[in-house]
Amino acid sequence: MKITLKILTVFFVSAAFFIFSSCSAVQPRFEKMLGTICFVNLHENGKTAYYDEIFARLAQIDDEFNLEKENSDVSRVNKFAFSENVAVCDDVFAVLETAQKISGLSGGAFDITIEPLVALWRVNTDSPHVATQAELAERLPLVDFRNVALNPSEKSVRFLKEGMKIDLGGIAKGFAADEIAKICKKRKIRRAVIDLGGNVYVYGKKPKNQLWTVGVKNPEFSDEAPLLKVNVPQLSVVTSGMYERFFEADGKRYHHILSPKTGVPIENELYSVTVLCENSMLADALTTTFFVLGKNASLEALPLIQANFCDEISVIFVEKNHVVSFSPDFPFEHTILYEDWKFNFF
Ligand code: AMP
Ligand code: MG
Repeated sequence: MKITLKILTVFFVSAAFFIFSSCSAVQPRFEKMLGTICFVNLHENGKTAYYDEIFARLAQIDDEFNLEKENSDVSRVNKFAFSENVAVCDDVFAVLETAQKISGLSGGAFDITIEPLVALWRVNTDSPHVATQAELAERLPLVDFRNVALNPSEKSVRFLKEGMKIDLGGIAKGFAADEIAKICKKRKIRRAVIDLGGNVYVYGKKPKNQLWTVGVKNPEFSDEAPLLKVNVPQLSVVTSGMYERFFEADGKRYHHILSPKTGVPIENELYSVTVLCENSMLADALTTTFFVLGKNASLEALPLIQANFCDEISVIFVEKNHVVSFSPDFPFEHTILYEDWKFNFF
């Protein structure tokens, strides 16, 4: 079997976005963390001390969430939570609570207990594997968010089924971006671009109150000009796409967003989903959720999700039939850059 691995993590410019921004007087900083390149540009009044503070916070989050670190909170949960209540730090507990809420609201399309399937496919590694029906049948019973019990008074986690494991890869980068935005606010940084592997946060105001311009990648030519440009105020803009992380085996592409019901990479009408929202953790979890649900079910679920969170949520669906669809009342000015693609509004 021929397997070609393709992990699209692009230096400086994320896998999902181009950002059109003014030049910075200080150097941006980037480091490999959270399984991706974390890029931060503190425009104008960025200081080394602020970068140090931000990257120390990212390192702390990596220590808490990284599944490859034996003593991370998430690794401890995966090792012990079937036999005992495992207490976790405030960061991990906050993310678990949001993840569980989104799982409930999405009918389980988003499910952090997906780990046994992620470990089976190994899409993000250099030894990917096409899962067999027998392997899927063995692991699927371990995937069900309802078997994760959270105890808010102890901030502890308990698994109700032996062999379960969690993976916060679909939500943790958003949490981290929000934490950096909090530091920017505390340090009165005027403007910043935070890009954690496509989990983008454009923070603050540009000169003369100009909006930021972010570009959503063309899924068919992801290294070329973006498919569309969107003008936004301070906001998080996050994309999940089938072209971000994948491998090919025998001419078929297998990407990293899995169906908790069938255990295989999601195949639907979508190339990518972009969510625009102030809360980056929510945006991150929702891009994964909406990719799993597909366009119609996402648009049906959106009002209920919106009602359960205080943030305004806008969505862009990039479809395989060359249509770009927007959620109702999409508030941001945008331009499409390719003639063979069409807009669709609801
Ligand atoms: P994202 O790129 O934000 O869409 O997140 C994808 C990552 O989330 C994958 O690499 C997995 O670690 C994890 N994941 C995959 N499928 C799901 C799912 N259905 N629900 C929750 N997390 C998932
Ligand atoms: Mg996500």
